Amino acid sequence: MTIPTSIPSTGPWAVIHRNAISHNLSWLRQRLYHCSPGAPVRVWAVVKADAYGHGLTHTVPALQQADGLGVTTPDDVRRLRRQGWQKPILLLSASGVRAEEICDPSLGELHLVIDEPSQLDQLERLARLPESRRPTRLNTWLRYAGRLGNLGFDVTEYAPAFERLLALKTKGLVVEAGHLHHYAGAEDADALRAERNEFATVVGRLPGPFSTGNSAALCGSLPETLRQEGHWLRCGLMLYGASALPGTTGAQLGLRPAMSVHARLVAVRYLKAGQNVGYGDTFQAQRDTWVGTACIGYSHGVPRQLWEQGHALVGPSGRPVPYAGRVAMDCLSLDLGPNACEQVGDIVTLWGHAPNGAALPVETVAASCSTIAAELFTGLTSRLPLISA
Ligand SMILES: *Cc1c(COP(=O)(O)O)cnc(C)c1O
Repeated sequence: MTIPTSIPSTGPWAVIHRNAISHNLSWLRQRLYHCSPGAPVRVWAVVKADAYGHGLTHTVPALQQADGLGVTTPDDVRRLRRQGWQKPILLLSASGVRAEEICDPSLGELHLVIDEPSQLDQLERLARLPESRRPTRLNTWLRYAGRLGNLGFDVTEYAPAFERLLALKTKGLVVEAGHLHHYAGAEDADALRAERNEFATVVGRLPGPFSTGNSAALCGSLPETLRQEGHWLRCGLMLYGASALPGTTGAQLGLRPAMSVHARLVAVRYLKAGQNVGYGDTFQAQRDTWVGTACIGYSHGVPRQLWEQGHALVGPSGRPVPYAGRVAMDCLSLDLGPNACEQVGDIVTLWGHAPNGAALPVETVAASCSTIAAELFTGLTSRLPLISA
């Protein structure tokens, strides 16, 4: 595992492994190919929340093989177009976006998720405008609320709303009207099957493409059920190499982690048994030991609770060591043990890969502070520079 030469000499950083992202996309493509070789399925790579904390500028170059990108704000759409992305973009939360805004031709081929009747009202208003003032390449996806239940149309509202979209297609305002569903519990095979069947019943014989599968459905499903995930799949988390299935790491599935978070030891001190380190006396040495401190903390996005159960990798060998006391705002300490050989300047790895390739899965780190990989990724703050490798 190479560490880029441009890493800061002081302060922490995260490495974004672009090859890992393109590998993860090919991994999915291969899986899809084996389940339906004759019928290509298209993939939306979801890059909302600044590519799950990996940075759009670092991530998009690795996603050239995706058929489209998914984001949540018109600003993100513009950002992607400025970065040169020319293929379709899916706007996942388009409610609240003004109709005039989607007429902006610089947004390119836009796919809107329709969550509310007010969006249909707006589109019907646009359909009455002269052709020159209408959007030209607008596609729509009607969201079924389903078990998640927070956005979209429920079982009684769905078909009438879809009729309105079809009418807009007939009027030439929208190119295509499809069906979209986001699972509430795709990590559980039985729940997934039930949600999938419910959606199929609601859509019934209505025309148009559909889009369901998220990372959990795509990683967890048997190959033979993958083809039921629709014409356009939407995946986020798995592209960044993390598993959406509890108790499993991305690496165990064949994915490659795309992020490693690092800092350097700025102090290594010898503690006598009984001496304390950290706020609130949260660590007391049980034996004489070395304690190393690195300048990274919760202001960079390292959860404060991590000290209770977590560990980090330290030094050239990527040796796992436990935390010593609470994570502070911009530093944390590690119990290096009585025979420590690490020195000031050595690299600490909070998750991802140590310089020698030793792995600390982000899923393991997340589990040790009762959260999920996606929260760790997106919780990183602008104080932590991202560097491409
Ligand atoms: C975030 C999101 C996705 C991607 O989900 P992952 O579990 O990260 O693959 C797909 N669809 C919708 C509607 C989303 O909001």
